[in-house]
Amino acid sequence: MEISSKASGADMVLGRYTEKMEFTIIPVTPYQQNCSLVWDEAGRAALIDPGGEAERLLAEVATRKLTLEKILLTHGHLDHVGAAAELRERLHIPIEGPERAEQFWLDALPQQAQMFGFPPAQIFTPDRWLQDGDSVSVGSMRFEVLHCPGHTPGHVVFFQPEAKLAFVGDVLFKGSIGRTDFPRGNHADLLAAIREKLWPLGDDVRFVPGHGAMSTFGIERRDNPFVGDGVAAGV
Ligand SMILES: [Zn+2]
Repeated sequence: MEISSKASGADMVLGRYTEKMEFTIIPVTPYQQNCSLVWDEAGRAALIDPGGEAERLLAEVATRKLTLEKILLTHGHLDHVGAAAELRERLHIPIEGPERAEQFWLDALPQQAQMFGFPPAQIFTPDRWLQDGDSVSVGSMRFEVLHCPGHTPGHVVFFQPEAKLAFVGDVLFKGSIGRTDFPRGNHADLLAAIREKLWPLGDDVRFVPGHGAMSTFGIERRDNPFVGDGVAAGV
């Protein structure tokens, strides 16, 4: 399957299924965080990790004539959640995710904003905390929730099985993995989550990372210098 190397315009239609899922990636904030807009055949949509630039995200939703139903969050870092509270307030839609252990990062949003030079950010709590094994529905689309700690303790991944597509936040990148030097980060946990939860989903699964280009689990198993199969534990 061809992999899009572009960070935008990665729209996809699944002709094989009666239900259609499409998505586009909208990099936001000075950190070029990949906010994903996903929608079904009826235009029912969700934003995954709206890190900032609410107006721009809403313009994209309007241009595509979509109805935003939910905000999904992978973890509590500001560049992934910066526009979530504002969008919830303006559109009266729920925020689902991440896992409950992320509250300490959400509580630190004002300090994160200062540290990274972002506009002031308010503390918020999601409408629904997610756990490993949960599922999230958006219109006719269903996402499986995988708890993948390590970069942050309550980080989750959203996996859409029919599309074989995963939104992995800052767990895994093309050619790299998430930082684990933040408070409550854990390198061993991160490697275990990738190997034990992501790899079993299949080599052909494509993923949208929190930053940078898309890839597949198969390519990363082969080439990733941090967590590829050639990088055996303890070597
Ligand atoms: Zn992060």
